Amino acid sequence: MPDVLVVEDDVELALAVVDMLSLFGFRCRRAGSLAEARPLAEHVDLVLLDLGLPDGDGMELCRALQGRIPVIVMTARGAASDRVSGLEGGADDYVAKPFDARELVARCRAVLRRSSGPTSDPDVTVDGSLVVSPSRGLVTLDGVALALTIKERELLFALARRRGAMVTRAELIAEVWGTSPQLGDNTLRVHLSSLRRKLDDDPTNPRFLVTVRGGGVRLRVED
Ligand code: CA
Repeated sequence: MPDVLVVEDDVELALAVVDMLSLFGFRCRRAGSLAEARPLAEHVDLVLLDLGLPDGDGMELCRALQGRIPVIVMTARGAASDRVSGLEGGADDYVAKPFDARELVARCRAVLRRSSGPTSDPDVTVDGSLVVSPSRGLVTLDGVALALTIKERELLFALARRRGAMVTRAELIAEVWGTSPQLGDNTLRVHLSSLRRKLDDDPTNPRFLVTVRGGGVRLRVED
């Protein structure tokens, strides 16, 4: 049973969300502020996050989690700027208030599925030093496990599944962000450049991640 932390200062709304999710088999905890949420957030499988909290912006918590725990931002309907800043700030998805119970549950399940998974995809080694292992949920560089966010890892797994073939930007966005392909290129760019930094990969002379003219990315896998 997945554990979900609902961070929302509107008690009525928080209780409604907890009721919905409990019906569908989630175990829920509640926090009404950043201070209450911080000690709980590291110990759940998923955080549902309101942005306007009495002691600060919900994105502070999202940034502090650094992608270790998946986050779904709860936005006011139509607040597109909240959605974009949420996704660029490392959130995994968003839902608009007021919620449709089935949509909320479907998004929670999708995010949990994307963030959890061992698969049977084979390991891919690049340039003898980068090993991408979707089946173990692990990326190592020269034998050392890299501290990547869920999104960065998912990007590498999506590329590894295609071996050295190019994956278009649209495909990457659809695979890694699932329901939010409309969020555009910028989020992908931000995550790719942070991934390059962690891999110490020079985009002008890449060892690992090659940007292909005409709109895609591939891993430098030699067969
Ligand atoms: Ca609020």
